[in-house]
Parts: sequence; structure tokens; C-alpha cells
Amino acid sequence: MRERIIEILKNYHSNKIKIGTLGSHSALNILRGAKDEGFETICVCKSKDVKIYKNFGVADRIIEVEDFNELLDESIQNFLRNENTILIPHGSFNAYIGKLENLNVPIFGNRKLMEYEISREKQREWFLKAGIRIPKTFSSPEDIDRLCIVKYHGAKGGRGYFLTSSPQEFKEKGEKMVKMGLVNESELKKVEIQEYIIGANIYFSFFYSPINERIELISVDRRYEHVDGLGRIPAKEQLKTDIEPTYTVIGNFPLVLRESLLREAFNTAERIVEVSKEIAYPGMVGPFCIETIFNERAELIVFEISARIVAGTNVGIPSSPYSYILFGENMYMGRRIAREIKIAIEKDMLTEVIY
Ligand code: AMP
Ligand code: AMP
Repeated sequence: MRERIIEILKNYHSNKIKIGTLGSHSALNILRGAKDEGFETICVCKSKDVKIYKNFGVADRIIEVEDFNELLDESIQNFLRNENTILIPHGSFNAYIGKLENLNVPIFGNRKLMEYEISREKQREWFLKAGIRIPKTFSSPEDIDRLCIVKYHGAKGGRGYFLTSSPQEFKEKGEKMVKMGLVNESELKKVEIQEYIIGANIYFSFFYSPINERIELISVDRRYEHVDGLGRIPAKEQLKTDIEPTYTVIGNFPLVLRESLLREAFNTAERIVEVSKEIAYPGMVGPFCIETIFNERAELIVFEISARIVAGTNVGIPSSPYSYILFGENMYMGRRIAREIKIAIEKDMLTEVIY
């Protein structure tokens, strides 16, 4: 697959490279970043969202589709290749397109690693190899013996996740989520049941530059989820009502950490990058996010990783405290991606950053 993409890239005019993506998730971030680095941009977006991408003026060319799956249509792929497009993948590539093997357009990053997000077993294998601390998982609902969170596969943004402390409760709440239309029966059969870690949720967005062989902390955020609304209702009222909070993400907040906690975050990022090279050649390329919870002893526990840009980096535009310290100029994930592509073109190293 990688060889096929490299062949396609060989036919590209390196002075005419355009940056493209799907219109959702972190597209504004990606497209603004591309423009800040002097690239022309292409946005493949749903007709109903055209007004957003027109309004912000960061897409030089808009391709309208009814469904993101149309990205796989030969006519669209042909157009993108003719325009020397490098695609920047984000959450919608995983959520709405799934397997990327039929996408014959170069993407920035490592599509093999992106598949780890769809499979929680693969993710676990990655974590275990890296020797990092993760929540305990339960292979069967029958084994639930403590407070657990029930999750699904793929980038679902917390939709339909629920808490449970027993096998019986698992059954009841699962059925309720199906009734509420948040998940379907088949998703409920393939759940991941994780011990619920009580603590502070922190999302670290790093960038690994294969050109500089450097791990960079670009921004840190936390999420604003449906469940956060619970805190606005007194416990007395919560007990009286049949509330079923879920973890659907609505937005993100920027964050800075106690500086002493950065050490562990970097140690974790280093191990994750190291193992990525063993499990999926050529290893990590560009943005990745380590989703963590710091427990009562301020110990870092990783519950998920995304090997691509996450929407939480949108809080880091035009700069986060960390990216500013590192670059001394406005820098954010979309721009950092475009900067790496620009440097790769200058150094004739594009094949190192695409897959
Ligand atoms: P959307 O374009 O909003 O449908 O998002 C595409 C995919 O990314 C969906 O699976 C969302 O759940 C996920 N997503 C979007 N925004 C965020 C966010 N701020 N944090 C986490 N996941 C997100
Ligand atoms: P994820 O889809 O793995 O990013 O998880 C979505 C949300 O569920 C997170 O932002 C957390 O709020 C919550 N969450 C996921 N896993 C755990 C866990 N093991 N313990 C506590 N909260 C979790």
C-alpha cells in the first residue's frame, strides 16, 4: 500500500502541492494552517456545510458531496491526484470512511497507525508494548465488579458511553442507550468495558516530526461533554430524576498543566512513538493525541490514543502556551502539519511524511 502511494506521489509536481481535507472536525484548523504556510487548499464537504467553509474563507476550492464516503469515488480521487493534493486525515476519516485502503491519494501521517484507533485490541497491544499505565479492562460484562465505563469502537466522540457497576446494570443501561437511539445492537455486542478512573482528564496533543526526529507538545485541552451538565443540577434533583448522562463531546477547553507533570507526559509520548516504529513502519508521523486521566496521586493513566489531529487542537489556534514557547511565533496543529510538509518539500523528503 505504502509503495503504491509513493508511486502516486512521484507523479506529483512538488511546487504545486495542495492541502486538502474533509469539511468537518478540525478542517478549519487544517485549512487555515495550510494557508498560513502558503499552500492552496481543497475542502471536500457536505452540501449542507458549504456555507461554513465558504464563510471562513480558508478553502480555495470546495468539492460538494452528499456523503463523506464519496471521497472514495474514482472521479474525486482523480481530481485530487491531478491537483497534487495531500490529504490531512482527522476524526471523520475514521468515523465515516473507516478502512482507508481504497483511498489512493497520499495522506499526511501513517494510515496503518490510524487503524489502531478503530480497534481497541490493537490499541491495547500498543500500550502494553510501550509499558504505559492503562485502565483495567473487562472482557465480559459478567466480570464487572467495580465502576466501569462502557465504550464503543472507532472515533465516536463519547456518544452513547455509559457507566455501570454490575452485569445487571450493564444490560439495563445498554438497552436504554439502544432505545435512546445513541447506539445499535451490534455496537453493544462489541463494547470495551474499562475501569472508570476518577480524576482530571487531560488531552495532550503532540506532533512527531520525522524530519527533525523531535516530539513537540503543541497544545493541551480537556473536553466539554454531555455529562458535564450534571454538575449544574443539585444532587437532590439528580436523585429525583431518571438522568442518563453520556459522554458525547460538545466542545473543548484549553489547558495548562502543573509544569512538573509534563515530564511524565513526555516520557509516555516517547514510549508511544518508539513502539509505533516497531508496530507500523515508518511509525508515528505528525499529530497524535494521548488521552489521559491523572488520578488522586497525580499519576498519569492513558485511556486512548489517536494517531492523527484531534479536534481538541482547535483550542490552540493561533497558538497555545506550549507551541508559543517552542516556536516563538503563532503555531497550531494545522499550521504545524503544513510546516512539516513545506520543509519536506524543500528537503525532498516528502515520502517520509506521507502514507
Ligand atoms: P463531526 O464532523 O462533528 O461529526 O466529527 C467527526 C468525528 O469526530 C465524530 O466521530 C465526532 O464524534 C468526532 N469529534 C468531533 N469533534 C470532536 C471533539 N471536539 N472531540 C472529540 N471528538 C470529536
Ligand atoms: P474516548 O472515546 O475513549 O475518548 O472517551 C470519551 C470520554 O469518556 C472521555 O473524554 C472521558 O470523559 C471518558 N472516559 C473514557 N475512558 C475513561 C476511563 N477509563 N475512565 C474515566 N473516564 C473515561
